[in-house]
Amino acid sequence: MPASLLLASTLALRVPPPRMAASSPIGFIGIGIMGDGMARCLLGAGCELVVWNRREEKSKALQAEAPAAVKIAASPADVVRACERTYVMLPTPEACAEVYSMSGGILEGVSTGKAVIDCATLEPSDMERLDALVTGAGGRFAEAPVSGSKVPAEQGALIFMVAGDETLYKEAAAELDAMGKASVYCGATGAATKMKLVVNMVMGAQLAAVAEGVALAEALGLPAEQVQHVLDNGAMASPMLKLKGPKMAASEHAPNFPLKWMQKDLRFALATAESVAQPLPVAAAANAAYVRAVAAGSGDLDFSAVVETCRPRG
Ligand code: NAP
Repeated sequence: MPASLLLASTLALRVPPPRMAASSPIGFIGIGIMGDGMARCLLGAGCELVVWNRREEKSKALQAEAPAAVKIAASPADVVRACERTYVMLPTPEACAEVYSMSGGILEGVSTGKAVIDCATLEPSDMERLDALVTGAGGRFAEAPVSGSKVPAEQGALIFMVAGDETLYKEAAAELDAMGKASVYCGATGAATKMKLVVNMVMGAQLAAVAEGVALAEALGLPAEQVQHVLDNGAMASPMLKLKGPKMAASEHAPNFPLKWMQKDLRFALATAESVAQPLPVAAAANAAYVRAVAAGSGDLDFSAVVETCRPRG
């Protein structure tokens, strides 16, 4: 069974994606850290793409990889006009508001039946607003935030949390399988974003705790490799710890997941928790560390740079 046809609350390992028919191009808007890898996976699965990015050089770099398969549109509206389904991967509610509503924006291109699948991490209310705008213009909408970072995006190993138009989710199965190793359908629009915020809230708090562990070990004069070895072999072992622990120890923070987006997600998780009167004291403390890191100028570095706020004069 294709991963995207799974029932709610189930995950499955990725099956190799089938080659897709070249007759219907796929739209892609936002060729950033994530969008670039996702678009390349669609190309690898045989899709033709129509793309738009604010700075055209990123679209051109993608086109250079597959000149016959990538067309660069003059505007987001032109992407939507040219394609049955368009994926959007922009960072923030502000960027989405701009690209959906500007002159030549996504909404100008939406007409009856046009589908928009938005993969950003926003707040649930943002996704509900975008859904209302797209469906109000006669289109169809699904939110599909992702778990996984730059490398999983390049490898087609993301996990999609999808909500909104369930028929659209099923129609998009081959594309989701090309970009991801699993998907889960969460229900009405907003539900997938709630799931994504829970996941990233746990991740942000976990990494802030790892950062304090690294800093404490350094202050106590413990060898970083030994600490990592003990953690990796105990109950605390995790892929995240294995990946980020050595980078923290070495202060290597080339951005896979920019710290400013981790702080954004914690801010959204805290606001969403407040809307249901759920206290999150650990996440709030972690958020304060990321806020401090952004203020110190580390927002564009990887979120592993939160460790620098824990070090002397961090
Ligand atoms: P990113 O690298 O910062 O890229 C964002 C893209 O959005 C860029 O192509 C940028 O265009 C465009 N953009 C930004 N502001 C814009 C505006 N006002 N108008 C038009 N275009 C604008 O972001 P990302 O890391 O790919 O993340 C995208 C989303 O995925 C975020 O919501 C993030 O939280 C989520 N996410 C990220 C990761 C990760 O590991 N990076 C993992 C999971 C989820 P330019 O090239 O012109 O600047």
